[in-house]
Amino acid sequence: MEIITSNKGNDKITFKGHMFVIKHEGKKYYTWRCSKKSSLNCPAILHTSVHKTDPVLKITHHEHPSEPAKIEVAKAIIKIKETAKCSGANPSQMYAEVVSQLDDYTRARMPVEETLKRTIRNYRKKKNPIDPATLDELEILVSHQSFDIY
Ligand SMILES: [Zn+2]
Repeated sequence: MEIITSNKGNDKITFKGHMFVIKHEGKKYYTWRCSKKSSLNCPAILHTSVHKTDPVLKITHHEHPSEPAKIEVAKAIIKIKETAKCSGANPSQMYAEVVSQLDDYTRARMPVEETLKRTIRNYRKKKNPIDPATLDELEILVSHQSFDIY
């Protein structure tokens, strides 16, 4: 199990190749639903402690296969955004650095690079200065992806 933070600032939990989003913060435990609840009406439900530990699947059935590579991709994008927040590096460099840490299978599924380069080219055509240190820049890049886990 791993906790990742989405671009909306909401935590998501990855568990066995599936991603879960918060459904209810109870006093004794938190309830998480599959991130594909809305798109595929997937019924899977996970409980954790209020400290977001000790995951227990309450409804184990998913309406779809697990997608570990997609989760790795989502984590990589979040890592790029985190890097953007605290460094002034060029987005292309940040991308290259994060991607270099991925395995081949995940790297092949990274959707960002072309969008990233296109955006940079467009910026330069307009001669707008790029400030890659701002999170907004990366938000724009990420929101161009048709990425249903967001
Ligand atoms: Zn599911």
